[in-house]
Amino acid sequence: MTQEQWGQLKNSLLGTVGQNNYKNWIEPLEFDEITEGVATFTVPTTFLGNYVSRNFGDLILHHLSQSGQPVRRLNFRVAANVAARPVAEVTLEKPAVTSAPVQSARGGEEQLPNAPLDARFTFDTFVVGKPNELAHAAARRVAEGGPVTFNPLFLYGGVGLGKTHLMHAIAWELQQQRPDLNVVYLSAEQFMYRFVQALRDRKMMDFKQLFRSVDVLMVDDVQFIAGKDSTQEEFFHTFNALVDQNKQIIISADRAPGEIKDLEDRIKSRLQCGLVVDLHPTDYELRLGILQSKVEQYRLQYPGLEIESGVLEFLAHRISTNVRVLEGALTRLFAFASLVGRPITMALTQDCLADVLRASERKITVEEIQRKVSEHYNIRMSDMIGPKRVRTYARPRQVAMYLCKQLTSRSLPEIGRRFGGRDHTTVMHGVKRIEELRAKDGQIAEDLELLRRALEA
Ligand code: ADP
Ligand code: MG
Repeated sequence: MTQEQWGQLKNSLLGTVGQNNYKNWIEPLEFDEITEGVATFTVPTTFLGNYVSRNFGDLILHHLSQSGQPVRRLNFRVAANVAARPVAEVTLEKPAVTSAPVQSARGGEEQLPNAPLDARFTFDTFVVGKPNELAHAAARRVAEGGPVTFNPLFLYGGVGLGKTHLMHAIAWELQQQRPDLNVVYLSAEQFMYRFVQALRDRKMMDFKQLFRSVDVLMVDDVQFIAGKDSTQEEFFHTFNALVDQNKQIIISADRAPGEIKDLEDRIKSRLQCGLVVDLHPTDYELRLGILQSKVEQYRLQYPGLEIESGVLEFLAHRISTNVRVLEGALTRLFAFASLVGRPITMALTQDCLADVLRASERKITVEEIQRKVSEHYNIRMSDMIGPKRVRTYARPRQVAMYLCKQLTSRSLPEIGRRFGGRDHTTVMHGVKRIEELRAKDGQIAEDLELLRRALEA
């Protein structure tokens, strides 16, 4: 986690704990590092460290996991007050900080290595759209806890697209539906950490036994074990043992099994044996849906806060496909608006989110779209832009116009100009035509999806 990310996280904490608590307890925390699932902070006094750990520890852990940081435990160390120390000690080559670990309330070491589930990551809060409907359906199926039909379920997709959310949702649902089942969720990093710990403490037998007694095993971000040979090896054995017992396994990664570098081939092929589904980058409709559902949740937290119409549409349009970024923007917006006691207008949005908006400015150009579409349909750029109206050129041209409308901020007249000086009504007609085709022609829908992903990659 960078200092900047910590800054953002502090911002979201501010929204939750309020200004007073924030000033007293959160602001004095200095973020140091995250290693092996432990986030370390420097605090001015032991008292502050203890207080924060007791009162805000879980909240901080929660926010960290929300922002995608794999943290199990918080560690607070007290900045050494050099002046007050006996000289003798200062001259010893000690680190400038003394460690005063404050274990959070979570997880005894000997229990099943189950990572805490985020209470907000349920099926109820998961917004389904075209880009994630397959993954969602597969997750739902697995969450019924019926006979194992595909093993493993492998979910993959870019960062912030809902993999962890879906896995937690499966775990929550299984707890409801099948309380008899022993469900374990953990990140690949935690798997490694446990494994290394077991090796160190000579407790490998216990480790193996623990994992072999699981009914449903979920391992998040499995790409993490790539290149870590002994961990891979152990993972492979655990995996096989569970599959042989017909126990359900659910895996996530940031890419398809075959594309994970430094992952053993036998593991890759094992991972491909079940159902492999990907979460596609979000589209405008899904982003808007997610924003609307988040706003409903925020309304409980900030009653009376008004939001001007058009703001959500604007955000859905302008912010990248990463849902985490989208959520972060909304959180900041609500926190900011409630702090200054003003309604959320377009102006306030532009102001408050200037950096986020700049960072996610669309960089796709009309030319890029024209080039990609020409390549895709195997026509020349000159024919795409030129005057010929035969179907072989007209259809790709309309597809390109449609994508320009969707993926750039160019207006219809501007787009028309770049397509050989065509009129904006021609562009409008083309865009409409593709919208219609998209709904009823599977091939076109697939082409559009492919092109969009290629362009946004
Ligand atoms: P990943 O694990 O794929 O990186 P996460 O599951 O952590 O992504 O999702 C990032 C954030 O976006 C989470 O807060 C999650 O709740 C939210 N999110 C992602 N997809 C959806 C969705 N379809 N509906 C609601 N929230 C979503
Ligand atoms: Mg994740």
